[in-house]
Amino acid sequence: MDHEHDGHEHHEHGRGLPPHPTREDDDVALTYGEARYLALKSLLIEKGLVTADEIRRRLEINERGNPQQGARMVARAWVDPAFKARMLADAKEAAKELGLEVTEAKLVAMENTPACHNLIVCTLCSCYPRSLLGEPPAWYVSKAYRSRAVREPRKVLREFGLDIPETVEVRVHDSNADLRYIVLPMRPAGTEGLSEEELAALVTRDCLVGAAVPRSPNA
Ligand code: FE
Repeated sequence: MDHEHDGHEHHEHGRGLPPHPTREDDDVALTYGEARYLALKSLLIEKGLVTADEIRRRLEINERGNPQQGARMVARAWVDPAFKARMLADAKEAAKELGLEVTEAKLVAMENTPACHNLIVCTLCSCYPRSLLGEPPAWYVSKAYRSRAVREPRKVLREFGLDIPETVEVRVHDSNADLRYIVLPMRPAGTEGLSEEELAALVTRDCLVGAAVPRSPNA
């Protein structure tokens, strides 16, 4: 499943092509990409390389993913330096400690520091740690973000309302089928008295991609 890049980019690849003929009981006319996905899927099943149940299970896991799961990992890292070290060493293994199942081959956490801000992209298509964070936002999959995040990341971040000073390095990480990223943002000032749960509530989806940073509740 990992190698077909989740099938989410196929809509875009199929744009402009005539819809593929469909059976009369299909809900909608299939795009070229959707038809290709279904053909590939039935071929893989037919050849015994994957079962329909395995595909269904993966989709179910992806739909269980949500940004709150990533936020829980960040909050734990903020309050527990040992967990943070394990998360930076192997985020997929660390997720298990919180009862979270990451099914992507590899999950790498990139730590924001006062000297470096991290931004995540998939320049090829839409690779994203879906099993942990759920479906990516529409902008993440857009061609504009995929190209501009690499070419002019600071400008893109400014459009998100995040002004990164020139003294801070912006590092852009390109995801792929086997390697997915999550950003470990910096804990905002003024949050010393907050519980782990309250801290997690500060970490939004965009913070986990590097398009935003968590704000102190008093800010
Ligand atoms: Fe991708």
